[in-house]
Amino acid sequence: MHFITKFWIIGLILFLSNGLKATDITILTTTDIHGHMTDDRSGMIKLASVIIKERNKAGADRTLLLDCGDTIEGSFAAYSTDGEIVIKAMNFLNYDVWVLGNHEFDLNLKELSGRINQFKGITLAANLNCKALTEKSKVLPWAIFKLKKLKIAVIGMSMPGICWQVWRRPGIIKTVDMSEALHQIMPAVRKQKPDIIILAQHLGMYSKNYNVYSLLAEFPEIDLVIGGHTHVEKSGEKVGPKSWYVQAGKHAECMARIDISYNEKVRKISRITSEIIQVDDNTPNCIELSNILKYDLTGMKRKEERILTSINQRKAVSIKKTKTIIAAMQQEAAELGKNVDVILYSKRKKEGIAKKRIDIYRKTVFDWHRFHDKVCIVEFSDVVILKRIICEFKRGVASKKITPIVIMKNTSALMSSYILAGANGRLSQMHRYGVKYPERIKCGASIQEAVVTYLKNKAKSKKQ
Ligand SMILES: [Zn+2]
Repeated sequence: MHFITKFWIIGLILFLSNGLKATDITILTTTDIHGHMTDDRSGMIKLASVIIKERNKAGADRTLLLDCGDTIEGSFAAYSTDGEIVIKAMNFLNYDVWVLGNHEFDLNLKELSGRINQFKGITLAANLNCKALTEKSKVLPWAIFKLKKLKIAVIGMSMPGICWQVWRRPGIIKTVDMSEALHQIMPAVRKQKPDIIILAQHLGMYSKNYNVYSLLAEFPEIDLVIGGHTHVEKSGEKVGPKSWYVQAGKHAECMARIDISYNEKVRKISRITSEIIQVDDNTPNCIELSNILKYDLTGMKRKEERILTSINQRKAVSIKKTKTIIAAMQQEAAELGKNVDVILYSKRKKEGIAKKRIDIYRKTVFDWHRFHDKVCIVEFSDVVILKRIICEFKRGVASKKITPIVIMKNTSALMSSYILAGANGRLSQMHRYGVKYPERIKCGASIQEAVVTYLKNKAKSKKQ
């Protein structure tokens, strides 16, 4: 009897202390790193020091580390290692979650699948339907994490409409809008009775057809929305009836820290605060990480410094960026069995005109064209459609500083796969044509590779 009384008193004390004391957890988040590893003032090697410091402060057992996407593409380091260098850094830092961004799909699906398999954490994208990825690697819609006594559901969303930026045969990559994806998965999430629900999305607060307020009106049980894609910093603000929004900038210049106090007695978040923590001039490099990446970084340096060709002043005029890229695309088209003349292309800045004799490095080509899009040939069924598409192109993108190049003759067109995909919604007729007639499209090497091959051939012919 005496023993039972004692047991009850201890139980009561534990119950009361649990009820009164909140459980504190911390979410650390990054987004849109775009492969930035060793910039002068930022980059992952410095950001790693900040992440480690903040995690130590909060306690590793009460911290989650998430990345919101556009992670493994965008720098020469990422390009020359097919994104591996970034995954190595993420694994060293023990990232728990990686949400796939649209630029992850710039890699081909085999490469991306390889990166997902290398990643030690959980890859999330609830609105993505891509058999090639789900069969060869694990991409989940959501996951439950346990921190202290709390059950935390993290739902990941990629950017809806990836197929408007990246050309793939119809049906290979499908995305649904976020509301639809949430309606599909929420019953299962609710069944788990999570204490906290986090939505990590590769999207800002607003975009075409999306508004975070409308989504939260439909799903008010989401406690925290972590955003990305728009490259802005949002240190934390209330959105919807009871949710909080945070976004951690870009290019490994900063991270966001979100501190949550959860009152278990009323089963509610009692306090949520957040801040952006910048990498600054005083942030040291993380020595351990730079040692891990040493081999990749020296390899990258060697590639970066590889001279493809040298040009003298007289010749330099003809080797300016646009002309070189177009010539390279024509050469690639010839490889695909199609000779095309230049009729129309977008205005690009005349960069790269040499004053004296200059060397063209592998890195120069990367800076000329920083994307992975491919050289594509599209056969149009008749001139009327082609003319309509030329009109759309001129209206939509020809004057923009983006990379589209369209070269046309008769009823065939040479263009980048980004244009073919619809230039992020600007070229809807082009997009629809590609989806309707995939058999009329031929895709070759990436524009980057085409330019490298072209310059190498040029240098070879000069020697002979
Ligand atoms: Zn993005």
